[in-house]
Amino acid sequence: MKDLRVWGLKKSPWVFHVAAASCNNCDIEILDVLTPRFDVERFGIVLVGSPRHADALLVTGVLNRKSLPRVLRVYEQTPKPCLVIAVGTCACDCHMFKDSYNVVGPYDRHLPVDVYIPGCPPKPEAIIAGVVKALSKL
Ligand code: SF4
Repeated sequence: MKDLRVWGLKKSPWVFHVAAASCNNCDIEILDVLTPRFDVERFGIVLVGSPRHADALLVTGVLNRKSLPRVLRVYEQTPKPCLVIAVGTCACDCHMFKDSYNVVGPYDRHLPVDVYIPGCPPKPEAIIAGVVKALSKL
């Protein structure tokens, strides 16, 4: 059954976007990936409205004390195996906010991150390449 799920995940990964505390530029680039110019739906990559339907989480922004419990809750609700893809330098290593009193560290301190896509914000091509890289790890 697990093999069947991994096969399906590779063929058509459904992703859920988690914006923790981003400035929204990374979020806009994720939306860009879904526009007709890049049109990732032709590859079966679909943005879903619930983590319960997702195969992968696209996380953006820094994790702070307020967002950490919510992000962990979203991760718990996502069926496993689930890919975690850190989009943007904030998600990869907290960027310029790393010394803030409210920041609780990068995602990989709290979640198993599969792929890091640095950039402020990363280009849509980099986001697509990151998702493909994450799928190749399965
Ligand atoms: S990486 Fe840059 S663009 Fe993305 S959320 Fe952080 S500050 Fe904004």
